[in-house]
Amino acid sequence: MNSQNVVQLTTELVRMNTINPPGREEPCARYLGVLLEAAGFQVKYHGFGDGRVSLVATIGSSGSKLPLCFTGHIDTVPLGAAPWRMDPFAGDTDAGLLYGRGTSDMKCGVAAFTIAALGMAKHLASTCGVILVITAGEETGCEGAFHLYRDGALDKAGALLVAEPTSNYPFVGHKGALWLKATTRGVTAHGSMPEMGVNAVYKGAHAVSRLERFRFSNPPHTLMGQATLNVGTFHGGLNINSVPDRAEISVDVRTVPTVDHKALIGLLAAQLGPEVELETLMDLAAVYTEPRNPWVQSVFEVMAPIVGEVPTPRVATYFTDAAALNRAFGDPPTVILGPGEPQMAHQTDEYCALERVEKAVAGYEEIIRRWCLT
Ligand SMILES: [Zn+2]
Repeated sequence: MNSQNVVQLTTELVRMNTINPPGREEPCARYLGVLLEAAGFQVKYHGFGDGRVSLVATIGSSGSKLPLCFTGHIDTVPLGAAPWRMDPFAGDTDAGLLYGRGTSDMKCGVAAFTIAALGMAKHLASTCGVILVITAGEETGCEGAFHLYRDGALDKAGALLVAEPTSNYPFVGHKGALWLKATTRGVTAHGSMPEMGVNAVYKGAHAVSRLERFRFSNPPHTLMGQATLNVGTFHGGLNINSVPDRAEISVDVRTVPTVDHKALIGLLAAQLGPEVELETLMDLAAVYTEPRNPWVQSVFEVMAPIVGEVPTPRVATYFTDAAALNRAFGDPPTVILGPGEPQMAHQTDEYCALERVEKAVAGYEEIIRRWCLT
């Protein structure tokens, strides 16, 4: 494989249905593993369920400098309710665009760093090296990445590049996500005798009002602004003629680096009071690297001719596996940079632009060269 084959590899990956749920990323992970192993990478597979397999491929890693890590996920979201004009699994191209579920988010990104790493492999064996972390189960809350972290499958990395779709524009971070479930309890009774019961929906409604009034007291972040809080769902009661004994509220908090998640949970619990039980459903830290970091500056330099301008510091709107991986890696400088089109992620008739995918390979090769060979 060489840089001419990135289109071919993206097409092969798109032809494997990895819609999550259920996932079934294994054939895709093994396909990439075989290519990487043949080029001298040490490949380890990490399964966490039926057909759910992530892949860690390493080459080099000698000397005092830590390796450079690329990461991407191989699962995709479902097709959605709207009919597709293009076959989502054929890998058809039209006018320089490759169509299919997962083209932009993010099989073209995985293909691009895989091709870049394969092309550079013969020069990397005696360098500080490169790690490719190719995950399953990202779309359902970074399951695969958390599994790798909990399994102790990851050594330290010196820098992390997340190849999520950014149209090749390097981003320096993204918000965190803290998903909470608030539960209130009551005592059921016949609807004609509410005085005999305790209404959990009334308690839940009070909790929702308090959540609506909640204001963050942390200083806003320079690039990300302030954190946000949204009540996503509110369920309570079983039927019209009973006093409900349980209500559940789901809360989606998007945090910025100035929010301490633990402290925030404590603050919310205090404001909601002892009648409300709080449970954490997902806890992903915000990811942010100061743009003046030398590696970030070097990535900006590499990408400037490719995006046609000197990049200015920006952050992505979505969260990524970096939130999970950085716990294992010891929080290295992190850039989100991939050839997919961010506005195509999760869309009907998703596509990626082939020219951008080819340019990403060139950019990634230069990023590897600068990290490993200079
Ligand atoms: Zn993605």
